[in-house]
Amino acid sequence: MRIFDSHAHYDDGRFEAEFEGGYHEAIELSLRAGVCGIVNAGSSLRTTLSSVRLAEEYSFVYATAGIHPNDSQYVSLRELDSQLRQIEALAAHDKVKAIGEIGLDYHYDDTDKERQFYAFGAQLEIAARTGLPVVIHSRDAFADTLDFIFSNPGIKGVLHSYSGSAEDVPRIAKAGWYFSFSGPVTYKNAVRPKLAAAAVPADRILAETDAPYLPPVPHRGEINCSAFLPHTLASIGEARGISTEEAAEITLRNAIEFYRIDPNTLYNA
Ligand SMILES: [Zn+2]
Repeated sequence: MRIFDSHAHYDDGRFEAEFEGGYHEAIELSLRAGVCGIVNAGSSLRTTLSSVRLAEEYSFVYATAGIHPNDSQYVSLRELDSQLRQIEALAAHDKVKAIGEIGLDYHYDDTDKERQFYAFGAQLEIAARTGLPVVIHSRDAFADTLDFIFSNPGIKGVLHSYSGSAEDVPRIAKAGWYFSFSGPVTYKNAVRPKLAAAAVPADRILAETDAPYLPPVPHRGEINCSAFLPHTLASIGEARGISTEEAAEITLRNAIEFYRIDPNTLYNA
């Protein structure tokens, strides 16, 4: 079985803190579990730079470049504009495969919607100029996120760790978008992501860990890594009435297509 982890954060400090061999060890474990490709998502200028470094270190690791909605809030507008220019420059790197993770997050009390709209809109423009797809983070902000999606028909993207309903899937899919599923699809009482995973067209579904976050059952409470992705693939397969292997195969194929990855650069290609 060959597995593609379409969204992870191996530059997160928790890998250095909890694995003796740091992220190298977590990636080694993942390769032994069948992982052949990983997209390391940037979420700030700093983590975009570390994602690009990781992608330079491993042929089968790819990067995204972007500023997360929460990260757009705590700097001056002048500083944010400067960071956005640097993100656009980094987007020209050949291992940068998408603009992300960008979007809207209203979870915290200090949410500054106006600032989040500004950063999101500016990065959708970067995606339009560079021709790259986008990776969307949306938390407690689904309706506004869809407004941005439907008012930018030229841009294609993925809703990372999709938390919308199955009913919303058809119109988002019709707009050319992808849906990515992570650990929550394995949670026993999580009916919503299972129904959504069943509703997504076969050519639009991706699988991800969001490592070190969102570990799947039976690894809840542990540090997530791509080696745990088979559990998520099993739940996706169960929801769709296909095997874990078939779920791995379609999500690998879709990731190659979505991120425009040269299959020859994958591990054990
Ligand atoms: Zn993420």
